[in-house]
Amino acid sequence: MTRRLSLALPSKGRLREPSWALLEASGVDPQEPGERVLQAHCRNADIDLLFVRADDVPEYVQDGVVDCGITGLDLIYERDCDVEVLLRLGYGTCSLQAAVPREDTATSLADLAGRRIATAHPRTAARALAELGIEAELVKVGGSVEISPRLGLADAIIDLVSTGSTLRTNGLRPLGSLFDSEAVLVGRSGDDDFESRDRLATILSSVINARASRYLLFNVAKDRLDAVTSILPTRGSPTVMDLATPGVVAVHALVPAATIWNLLPALESLGASSMLTLPVERMMP
Ligand code: AMP
Repeated sequence: MTRRLSLALPSKGRLREPSWALLEASGVDPQEPGERVLQAHCRNADIDLLFVRADDVPEYVQDGVVDCGITGLDLIYERDCDVEVLLRLGYGTCSLQAAVPREDTATSLADLAGRRIATAHPRTAARALAELGIEAELVKVGGSVEISPRLGLADAIIDLVSTGSTLRTNGLRPLGSLFDSEAVLVGRSGDDDFESRDRLATILSSVINARASRYLLFNVAKDRLDAVTSILPTRGSPTVMDLATPGVVAVHALVPAATIWNLLPALESLGASSMLTLPVERMMP
């Protein structure tokens, strides 16, 4: 019998919506939690859901309160929790960056030596600075890190950045990145022989892979087939089928979504027509 799996999901914040969307897309049919409901089940899988803050997930998994959870890689490093990263989820991407006021003379991370730096991520920041051999004073703040230099609390900041617009709005200039983060599925270390945990990781990864791909279909004259297939960025061999019209074939291929913008005009210029791209729901190797 497969063991039931308990999964902690972020109950609010940036990681909540994309984590929920990923679970829904996986087909396990999670029960929508009501207001203030902290637990729910999945209709199609033996999975119990626990809704907690993303910052609490690393400890919950480490301490065995739940079998696995979704959280930010940065939170695992900051909490220094002993958990196993089972899968990178490709959203919640951000980096821990150092920044100084626009008018500051610093031009690189090395220029932070001897400075006072405000951060809400002291452990990760200290580790990253030590690895770079930079000695600086870290000032731990709870939030609104970006205004610390203006308040005279610090000369620089180290904070999580995704687009950089908050830095710019607060008159700050990035100096460099110390750590890259994204949402991850984590499990308890050493809990390797756990079938439903492996199955969840496999299903989620099939959805993530599928999101980055498109199913491409087009028609082309048979004598142009070599030319069009030579530019197809597909891993395997495309499917080629004869059409009722003599001398014309239909080509089907799985291609990276990111290539579509350049690929369609290139195929068109080689004689491809009736091009269609379709989203892919799930993709397993
Ligand atoms: P929350 O504070 O609950 O909204 O979520 C914070 C988590 O979202 C962080 O621990 C990161 O993993 C992730 N994240 C993604 N982009 C950013 C960003 N620009 N600032 C802070 N956290 C971010």
